[in-house]
Amino acid sequence: MVDSALTANVRRELSKLQADLDALQTDNLRGQLERLNDQLSNMPTPASQFATHAVGGSMGDMQSTRPKEMSAEVVDSNPYSRLMALQRMGIVKDYQRIRDKTIAVVGVGGVGSVAAEMLTRCGIGRLLLYDYDKVELANMNRLFFRPEQAGMTKTEAAAQTLAGINPDVAIESYTMNITTLQGFDAFKASVTNADGASRVDLILSCVDNYEARMTINQVCLELEQTWMESGVSEDAVSGHIQVVIPGETACFACVPPLVVASGIDERTLKREGVCAASLPTTMGIIAGLLVQNTLKFLLDFGQVTRYLGYSSLTDFFPTMDIKPNPGCSNPLCPKLQAAYQQQYNSEEALAARSAAATAAAGAEAEAATHEDNDWGIEVVSDAGPAASPGAGSAGQQGGLAAGLQYSFPVASMDPYDLKKDAVEDSTADVDDLMSQLQALNTQS
Ligand SMILES: [Zn+2]
Repeated sequence: MVDSALTANVRRELSKLQADLDALQTDNLRGQLERLNDQLSNMPTPASQFATHAVGGSMGDMQSTRPKEMSAEVVDSNPYSRLMALQRMGIVKDYQRIRDKTIAVVGVGGVGSVAAEMLTRCGIGRLLLYDYDKVELANMNRLFFRPEQAGMTKTEAAAQTLAGINPDVAIESYTMNITTLQGFDAFKASVTNADGASRVDLILSCVDNYEARMTINQVCLELEQTWMESGVSEDAVSGHIQVVIPGETACFACVPPLVVASGIDERTLKREGVCAASLPTTMGIIAGLLVQNTLKFLLDFGQVTRYLGYSSLTDFFPTMDIKPNPGCSNPLCPKLQAAYQQQYNSEEALAARSAAATAAAGAEAEAATHEDNDWGIEVVSDAGPAASPGAGSAGQQGGLAAGLQYSFPVASMDPYDLKKDAVEDSTADVDDLMSQLQALNTQS
């Protein structure tokens, strides 16, 4: 509504300007120019008008229109019917909890803008957007931004689009560079409550440089705030997401990238006229993986993967846990690691884990019993017979996680093969063997 009213307003002003330009005469040029100038300065700009509606602090009018409940009613006019169906399908216990959640998206580029749109469509309660860049036509190979938004700040353009998609979401936009000294303080203040604790449930890092990731890392260590890191490679064909829980998992300083560990300044890596490649597909996939993990984290369903990689050339998705580094270069990190260990090994934590395991086992046993089974359906393991190591199968190989494979062939463990290749006992003494070896060497 606001958008179309604005467009009409701008169009009216433009046609007035055009009429005046047409009537422009050489006499009294100064007077006419002044009038034109006045008209120009009074013209509403779509971005600034919208920002007053959508940007932090002035959300009052929007929030009052937020629906009290997310309806589960299955009608075409309900934007949440298919999300609320997750409850009926038994995936999520209480989907509406998403309305109480606040997410900060740092970096509204190829990954961040798409992640923000997904969260908006999912009905997230509050979204904080951070970026200092402007929309450029060079961004149009990616999703989300539109050519007519070129020149607007990414935060302003994103707030405009997102508010149009779902006015129930409270959007705060922060046009700032978080890596400057001032930016760091402002960023930290914006995610901190008056009592000094974090006011967000999760921070999503969608930035494209090491410095900004280290800034987010520092703020999150100080606030003991969980965050998720994401990245797409410069050649646009691979990416990853990673969960960082201060003290529990590796922080971003625990395992620095090789280029940083080698002491190279990343700013010297950029060359004039050479830019990183980017694909809307890879960006969209990484954004999807990031928000999927976010939803699982926020609404307690499924398994929140600590590290998930994506290599598009081989369609390889490695997962792993990255343990914190006791010798982390950030002094806050080992302190939080010690606190976490102490908590993890406490009596209460042990009892809680044991109770959870018992409950899970009980739930599994209950789920497995069915009163009626008219079709005689049986549940069988899909693990199949254990593949013999070295068989060269594409699946599970001797103790390796699915998807991983050895670079070199693995020796057969078949007892007959082993016997065949075995060195037989010999009665020859060392001198004999030495002369045999020398004879072999001179032959070749
Ligand atoms: Zn660390």
